[in-house]
Amino acid sequence: MISSGRTSTSNSIVVVGSCMIDFISYAPRLPKSGETIKGSKCVTHFGGKGANQAVAAAKLGGNVTMVGRVGVDDWGTRYIEHLKHLNVNTDHVKITLDAQTGIAQIIVANSGENLIVITCGANDKLDEKDVVLADTVIKAADVLVLQLETPPEVAIKALELCKGISILNGAPAIANIDSKLLSMPTIFCVNELEAATFTGLPVKSESDARKAGVELLNKGCNNVIITLGRQGALLMSKTGKTIHVPSPVVAAVDTTGAGDAFIGALAYLLANRKEMSMEMCVGLACVAAADSVTRPGTQRSFPGIEVFGMS
Ligand code: ATP
Repeated sequence: MISSGRTSTSNSIVVVGSCMIDFISYAPRLPKSGETIKGSKCVTHFGGKGANQAVAAAKLGGNVTMVGRVGVDDWGTRYIEHLKHLNVNTDHVKITLDAQTGIAQIIVANSGENLIVITCGANDKLDEKDVVLADTVIKAADVLVLQLETPPEVAIKALELCKGISILNGAPAIANIDSKLLSMPTIFCVNELEAATFTGLPVKSESDARKAGVELLNKGCNNVIITLGRQGALLMSKTGKTIHVPSPVVAAVDTTGAGDAFIGALAYLLANRKEMSMEMCVGLACVAAADSVTRPGTQRSFPGIEVFGMS
């Protein structure tokens, strides 16, 4: 284990999740099966929903600890250094000897269409023992953040230890989700496509999203957030209250990672602005996510605290 940065346990956020390296090739069109075509450029980014959300919260000034796994390769070492550089505590990011660092290979065509293959590698090796080893920080966390790019049983174990607020980002959506993953988190947060997968309902409009939200509450969720892209987010709770929180109108240049910017900001706000209502936190998370889409890239597009106009 490699120590880093922040050690304070106050207002802490723990993210249990994935670290991936994104290789993005841009090409005039997507290749056909068996075909080789020339791309125009290839870029490499630090990604993975877990690490993206950890970075989004840390860039706002959050006291963030990441629990995850990378491979024994060069990418793994570089990822840990990268997180440390951004003030994410990496004491619980383990180097796995028998798997490579997670890789996402992405081809983006001029039309915006894409092809993606994710090789989870070390992320699939994250297990319940890793979470138990981090039990002190998880139990002390004000906010715990989880996604589904790492094994679901790991998320359940972390939820069992959590004493604070928990946010499960149901991404990527999985069929036949364990009902504990719906009922245990304080907040279940998904985008429209994921809401459709988890409910089996079409989600193409805000009114569809409301119906999907009711279905998720019926399935056992305590609070549901469905993000609606430029339209902001729906916040629904067991008490029957549904609030549509708008997003600022911005000139979007790249919406990749908007969902991760939203979740990281929400975690930061719930941990550090306890005087704010959930609705206010969701509104400001929309402000941070909308700001992120005005810049290219994922982690590098996430804003600092100045986005809220407060220190
Ligand atoms: P991604 O998969 O690209 O990371 P997502 O599909 O998980 O994103 P979205 O619902 O598209 O998540 O967006 C998350 C939040 O980002 C929205 O709730 C909104 O606040 C903000 N957002 C996204 N796109 C725009 C946009 N074009 N204009 C303003 N805000 C946006």
